[in-house]
Amino acid sequence: MIKDNIKQIQTQLPEGVQLVGAAKTRSPEEVIEAIEGGLTIIGHNYVQEAENLHAAISRPVKWHMIGHLQSNKAKKAAAIFDMIETVDSLKLAKAIDKACNGFNKTMPILLEINSGEELQKAGVMPEAAARLIKEMSTLSHVKVRGLMTMGPFTGDPEESRPYFRKTKKLFDEIKTLNLENTEMSLLSMGMSNSYQVAIEEGANLVRIGTKIFGDRTYGAS
Ligand SMILES: *Cc1c(COP(=O)(O)O)cnc(C)c1O
Repeated sequence: MIKDNIKQIQTQLPEGVQLVGAAKTRSPEEVIEAIEGGLTIIGHNYVQEAENLHAAISRPVKWHMIGHLQSNKAKKAAAIFDMIETVDSLKLAKAIDKACNGFNKTMPILLEINSGEELQKAGVMPEAAARLIKEMSTLSHVKVRGLMTMGPFTGDPEESRPYFRKTKKLFDEIKTLNLENTEMSLLSMGMSNSYQVAIEEGANLVRIGTKIFGDRTYGAS
């Protein structure tokens, strides 16, 4: 069933749009079934849980951090993830940079945008994004590859559209700055209920959990 879900979603995705399977709360068996169905990128929200999953799954897949990351967990995250989609401060970028220096690797990162400009929500305010990316471009072991956003959750995907559109506009603006050591190529937007709208608005990475694995019984955020 998980396998079929992956195949069904993959056939709907236009060329150039990549699927990230949001695997929080899922078992290694479930994730392996998704990989056997063709999933190549595993997204995770929690470092500890991702470490366990990572240790249990020895398949050649990519791992993306998609949850809020605290600087004090940057080293653990840098050890297992291939991309961190949720960088929202210079402090965090510097912590990842330092950890990756130690691992002799360069981490692709996305800047998480608080496109709804909601208080207490993760992500940077849209107007702060360009300046932050410019600052991050001086770090040699991280490389900004684009933007990620959640948008306010409403349940109605049409209500997410303006936030996706706004994030795409910001993405295009930052791209025209041609910042050094920065490659604005990835735009991560859309989840199970909103990915079609997100793709229409320019997403090329979609993060899908429920539609692959079924309803979550806990850890719904
Ligand atoms: C859980 C999660 C998703 C996937 O959500 P679904 O509604 O289950 O598809 C996508 N992005 C992030 C950041 C998540 O935490």
